[in-house]
Amino acid sequence: MIPFVNLTAQRNFLRKELEEAEARILNSGNYIGGSEVQNFEKELSLYTGMANSITCASGTDAIELALNALGLRPGDEVIIPDFSFISPAECVYRLGAIPRFADILPDTFLLDPADLMPLITPKTKGIIAVHLFGQTAAMEILHSIAKSHDLWLLGDAAQSFGAKRNNKHCESLANITITSFYPTKPLGAYGDGGALFTNDDILAEKIRKLANHGSKSRYFHELNGKNSRLDALQAAILRVKLEHFDEELKKRQKNAEIYNQFFSQFPDLTIPYIDPENTSTYAQYTLRAKDRNKWLSICDSAEIPTGIYYPRPLSKQPCFMNIERQMKNSGASRACHEVFSLPVCAYTNVEEIIQKIKSVL
Ligand SMILES: *Cc1c(COP(=O)(O)O)cnc(C)c1O
Repeated sequence: MIPFVNLTAQRNFLRKELEEAEARILNSGNYIGGSEVQNFEKELSLYTGMANSITCASGTDAIELALNALGLRPGDEVIIPDFSFISPAECVYRLGAIPRFADILPDTFLLDPADLMPLITPKTKGIIAVHLFGQTAAMEILHSIAKSHDLWLLGDAAQSFGAKRNNKHCESLANITITSFYPTKPLGAYGDGGALFTNDDILAEKIRKLANHGSKSRYFHELNGKNSRLDALQAAILRVKLEHFDEELKKRQKNAEIYNQFFSQFPDLTIPYIDPENTSTYAQYTLRAKDRNKWLSICDSAEIPTGIYYPRPLSKQPCFMNIERQMKNSGASRACHEVFSLPVCAYTNVEEIIQKIKSVL
């Protein structure tokens, strides 16, 4: 069976560099923090052009740290797209604040700025824009809405590290942007990891403290923080992968183009729409199907793995049942019934996948 994300092929391709980096750390006696993590953070800043890059233990931790740094309090409200991975909503709710779910745009699957306007109340403190599947949300509009209502803007680039909008890195388009280094994300480690990016030095210092038990100098704790750190081994692995990241993004984009050519001939499928202002990292290659079950069984008989991101709107998740809901969010519900994703990583042979699908049609 073809893997959904071919991490073994990536490892084979990068093996020499990875093994050198791994041995360097394992033989060093330093496994947490230190120069490896500092150098990786410097390289992240160089890559994104951001003043501050702060690594931490996961993308979910990064969101929680960001919300803490932005001063989220119990009872506050935060606007979140209804069609997303759960982390942003989960972190807001865990801090005692209330996620308000806005609908998505039908073409890009991204937060619909017009739909979120009626959700703004005096309790609203911020907006979390999820840059889903690899492309950036309409940040100019979201920024002006945030500015006129005195809200902060948090970007979730867990799937879109390296994506650009109008030639700007998506990491630069919010007060804080987070990413995840979960193994199957476009830039993935061999375990959990995450990072936060901000040009605000005061927020950056607060985030660093929060991720380090609320402390800047040892055993003096100014804030109630936590332990959230990327270990040196993951940093070393990510440094190797970051060097090859742009080449990999190009291959992902090429793969998506080949898929687009093939799938655009089927009137019952909609190929991914990338806003002309955006580049996509293609964290997922996501099609819409009028009859999804038909296409899932075609892929199944062709032995092609598929994924459904996501099968249920956040507002309909059992864990959020106690939250009062105002709207139906029909765009999110429709997407949940229609989407399916295909393998698209830099080491996926999409020609082979297309041949296999042709053979069962
Ligand atoms: C993966 C993901 C996260 C969470 O990242 P972890 O590192 O797994 O905690 C958050 N948001 C989105 C949109 C994601 O896809």
